[in-house]
Amino acid sequence: MNKIEKKDIRSFSLEKLELFFQSSGEKVFRAKQVHKWLWQKGVSSFDEMTNIPNSLRLTLAENFLINSIIIDKNQKSRDGTIKNSIKLHDGLIVESVIIPSSKRITGCVSSQVGCSLDCIFCATSSLKRMRNLNSDEIFDQVASISKQSEVHLNRPLTNIVFMGMGEPLLNYKNVIGAIKKITSRDGLGISSRRITLSTSGIPKMIKKLADDRVKFKLAVSLHSARQSTREKIMPFTRKFPLDDLIESLKYWNKITNKVVTLEYIIWKDINDKIEDINSLINFCKEIPSKVNLIEYNSIGNSKFKQASKAKVIEYKNALEKVKIPVSIRSSRGKDIDAACGQLANR
Ligand code: SAH
Repeated sequence: MNKIEKKDIRSFSLEKLELFFQSSGEKVFRAKQVHKWLWQKGVSSFDEMTNIPNSLRLTLAENFLINSIIIDKNQKSRDGTIKNSIKLHDGLIVESVIIPSSKRITGCVSSQVGCSLDCIFCATSSLKRMRNLNSDEIFDQVASISKQSEVHLNRPLTNIVFMGMGEPLLNYKNVIGAIKKITSRDGLGISSRRITLSTSGIPKMIKKLADDRVKFKLAVSLHSARQSTREKIMPFTRKFPLDDLIESLKYWNKITNKVVTLEYIIWKDINDKIEDINSLINFCKEIPSKVNLIEYNSIGNSKFKQASKAKVIEYKNALEKVKIPVSIRSSRGKDIDAACGQLANR
């Protein structure tokens, strides 16, 4: 007997499922039920679909796989942050983090296994990029940590940031596909306004976001507004110079009318001089933006040391003086290596 090549049922849209049910002589409304189990309840086996008759569950299991992800391990920080290792169907691992605060619960999710970029201050860049996550895997990551948030924190996730492993704009189609499901009512129904995509700055793809009229927020990891400095800490930016980044962000703002958040770490002796501050101010004058000064989380590279508190305040005051919105973001989950840039550290 020929062995049936099983397909991942989650690669089937509702319409495709309906067609399958119709052609196999099943009731078409079952497709909606199955779809709900997959996308709203996030089950990982057909046996969990309790309102589906046994015989149909068997048929489904004979024809399909559910390539689900599982939360392999988790660690809880003293500050309430939870870091998860998520195992994909092929055994590869990504990490995602739940960050609770008084107002919101933020899920920080990964878009790739490893990363192809080379930001030398980031732990993930030491892992080479193994593969992109598909949109179902990204969605599942969000759905499963949202469930985990309900169990541990009595509330589902309220906000999502694409600030985990990988460069989301280098996995464009799947990230956008996942966000569609995350925001859709049949999915998790989280509003686009509560989703932020963080990119290290791929100009062509930033323009594409604008052209696609996406509704979520955009953050760019700038870290320096001086080309020579930026190239040293993020060598890939030789190919994506600041002039192109500026042009793409102007375009983003023109089309979407949205402000971009600039993520910025201040390091001792790297970008803590007055010229660095002035370059950042000039950059912000060209693009409607707000600056998020983020704390550096050590990954054991001795070249990088967080600048002094005084330097951070100097930056903040200089930006405020010219009316550029600025905030200081303190780090969460440091004790378990769950903070920005620390994923894959252990
Ligand atoms: N590739 C995307 C998303 C992943 S990184 C991007 O670069 O934006 C998410 C944020 O953490 C980025 O702003 C990144 O620059 C920052 N980051 C990386 N390493 C860090 C570290 N060691 N300490 C603090 N922030 C770090």
